[in-house]
Amino acid sequence: MDLQFDREHIWHPYTSMTNPLPVYPVARAQGVEIELETGETLIDGMSSWWCAVHGYNHPYINDALKEQLQSMAHIMFGGITHQPAIELGKRLVNILPQGLDRIFFADSGSVSVEVALKMAVQYAYSKGEINRTNIMTVRSGYHGDTWNAMSVCDPVTGMHGIFGTALPNRIFLPKPETKFGEELNTDDRQYLDDYFEKHHKETAAFIIEPIVQGAGGMHIYGASYLEYLRLLCNKYDILLIFDEIATGFGRTGKLFATEHTQIKPDIMCIGKALTGGTMTLAATITTQSIAEQISQGIPGCFMHGPTFMANPLACAAAIASTDLLLQSDWKKKVDNIEEQLIRELSLASELEQVKEVRILGAIGVIEMQEPVNMAIIQKQFVDAGVWVRPFGTLVYIMPPFIITSEQLTKLTSALIQVVSNTNNIDK
Ligand SMILES: *Cc1c(COP(=O)(O)O)cnc(C)c1O
Repeated sequence: MDLQFDREHIWHPYTSMTNPLPVYPVARAQGVEIELETGETLIDGMSSWWCAVHGYNHPYINDALKEQLQSMAHIMFGGITHQPAIELGKRLVNILPQGLDRIFFADSGSVSVEVALKMAVQYAYSKGEINRTNIMTVRSGYHGDTWNAMSVCDPVTGMHGIFGTALPNRIFLPKPETKFGEELNTDDRQYLDDYFEKHHKETAAFIIEPIVQGAGGMHIYGASYLEYLRLLCNKYDILLIFDEIATGFGRTGKLFATEHTQIKPDIMCIGKALTGGTMTLAATITTQSIAEQISQGIPGCFMHGPTFMANPLACAAAIASTDLLLQSDWKKKVDNIEEQLIRELSLASELEQVKEVRILGAIGVIEMQEPVNMAIIQKQFVDAGVWVRPFGTLVYIMPPFIITSEQLTKLTSALIQVVSNTNNIDK
């Protein structure tokens, strides 16, 4: 591959164009293995950022794509509909929390977050509450890289300082301290009470990743936080948005992380594993009553419509991926991964360079005391035959559900071995 062209002309995510981190040329990927151009194979610990739950190059999803290609790859969604959108919609309505059944298909996770925030503001507007234009959220969150999605990301890891007043000022509560499986923390309750009391009049919605905060800090917290949040949203008539783009489709041990709680959001965002990692597709889902309220009055419709809305090829991939997931023993697979992570990864917490080990479902996180050096640590993982991409102080894995226990052991032992090294710390 022409790596020089790549280095000189192509941006990579969060990467410098003058002094880029090394990239590893990949020739193909199959199941849980990524094959480099050199012929080396790596065990995948990332599922391509939460997506590839069935592994790569899955024949069932590939066949669905080939079949869809026979009729059409894409067609506009304005004034037109098609079978893949309808079939996928039916499947989603079946598996989403009851009552969440009005679906907006978006072309990426960030766009689905934009759509959710716009829905909330238009909902308030349609009721004449024109001052309710702001959004509440918690620190340590991640909701995507587009403008408004970025505005609700953690202000520090999301680098809000760079964008100054160009970025809307959102209302940030501290990150939830309530532990998974425990009662609501008293500080959390106090912050929630105070912030709702102070800001409810200007707030259209509260957005949060349920149970697991992903790229903003890989932080796991308790359902009781969300249940109390739901009470306050009801009390002050504020919409509750759950961003399940990372947590959806089984990753936390429930089909949706919402199911760890006794409550439901008003709006939900899904993406990432929706197509099993083959195509980009996301969705924003709300209730009948919110959809109807938005559609009343001026302007009489929801003001959004991307060019590639409900792309038929992506919908076909999502149908195949969802069927594959539901027909598989995904719950048992995720539970087994969780047990093995607890057995094999918890050992890392004894190391002095490790601050904490956190595990839920098919997610294993090692938080280091100091930020790691990306270039060095990435090479150490590749040399150990695994694909792991840390950021900051976080070294973490969320492997495809189809990973075998031998493959997972290879991942966890590489993790322990690499974090035991002290030469990869960024000082
Ligand atoms: C990845 C992610 C997004 C953004 O999705 P993109 O498809 O990258 O735009 C939003 N929210 C959460 C929780 C995510 O993990």
